[in-house]
Amino acid sequence: MRPCYWQPPGNGTRALGKIAHVNGVLEISTTAAGGGRRGRLALAHGVVETPVFMPVGTAATVKTVEQGVLETLGASGLGAQLILANTYHLYLRPGHERIRRMGGVHRLMGWNRPMLTDSGGFQVFSLAKLRRVTADGVEFRSHLDGSKHFFSPEHSMAVQIALGADVVMAFDECVETPASWERTRESMGLTHAWAHRSSVYFEAHKHEVPWAEAVKGDARRDYEPAQFAGQAQRLFGIVQGGMYADLRRESAGRMVEIGFPGYAIGGLAVGEPREVTREMIARTLEWLPRDKPRYVMGVGYPDEIAEYARMGVDMMDCVLPTRAGRHGLVFRTAELGEDGAAGATATYPGVLRMNIKRVDYVDDERPIDAGCSCLVCRRYSRAYLRHLFVAGEPLGAMLNSVHNLQFYLDTMERVRAELEAAPHPNAPRLTQVAPASESG
Ligand SMILES: [Zn+2]
Repeated sequence: MRPCYWQPPGNGTRALGKIAHVNGVLEISTTAAGGGRRGRLALAHGVVETPVFMPVGTAATVKTVEQGVLETLGASGLGAQLILANTYHLYLRPGHERIRRMGGVHRLMGWNRPMLTDSGGFQVFSLAKLRRVTADGVEFRSHLDGSKHFFSPEHSMAVQIALGADVVMAFDECVETPASWERTRESMGLTHAWAHRSSVYFEAHKHEVPWAEAVKGDARRDYEPAQFAGQAQRLFGIVQGGMYADLRRESAGRMVEIGFPGYAIGGLAVGEPREVTREMIARTLEWLPRDKPRYVMGVGYPDEIAEYARMGVDMMDCVLPTRAGRHGLVFRTAELGEDGAAGATATYPGVLRMNIKRVDYVDDERPIDAGCSCLVCRRYSRAYLRHLFVAGEPLGAMLNSVHNLQFYLDTMERVRAELEAAPHPNAPRLTQVAPASESG
């Protein structure tokens, strides 16, 4: 049984370590033989222990899980260190100008830790209706009310600066899958042009982030706008190139040429076989600078995030823990000799997926996972969770999501401990890296 450090959410927010380092700098303490790195990424709202898993807070909420609970999840009680919010959703509702007036998404949702926003591109291409793509940007209709909108790289940056996440993403085109080499290369060219325009606009306007502005009527004691004076957001570039290694290489090269303080690998986990995802990540990592954070967008199952972290990925996000939780799917560690576990290795226990609505659990008084110290496993039985799900009680979705998030955060915590314990024999300890050049 893992020790339990969980504390009930108290008054106010729990901040992460303060900024002892320069915002945007990744300090790598150890690099393991497989390429995995143990590091600390300093951002305006705190220092993030890497590799890190980021829960997705689509519309300024990690669905069904309250912020105070998010801050205390995980065996060590560290909580979610960095969460993601979706630009497209917040732009449509409640609107980025309204959020700017309130001081940014952090203040809107009472989250005083680091945050990342995507560029809006992925949702425009996957959710919006009647898209029209030109070299200038994308015209689309809202999936909510059919209203007409236009996103260009400049507009995506303006919206993301108003939202005020610590890390923002360059606007990119997401190609449909499967796509031919020619089509992927054409789309990638657009992504490169848009990345350059994103960078130029961002550098000219990043001082407009609303963090330091006093907001009339905001009497919450946790938030001191003055502490953010002089702090800036960080813009990451996105490597595209589909499932073609030569295009991934070209894309990584172009992104590095533009110059960003961090790089994401996009367009993966969109239906391709897992070996292809792994291969594209491995190849792309070779072409990205070792001293910058590397972020794989939208992956994956618990055993996948552990695997990619061991390969040298520093940041990952996925809707799976909460989406699966709302559908009654929970993850647990396989017991010795149990069949069907994914990703079991000598050092990492296998992962099993349980469908909590199955009749098998109707009288099952055990917790989801006897080795889990989350607030759900300490208190509630499978039988109760099944009952909540079958009865359509909202608490069921919340409890399943809390457990799944803890499962993901604990997975990353174990990988961090493992990387710390097994440094590469030739790796220098504690590499201090200068921040990226600010040029576009
Ligand atoms: Zn649990």
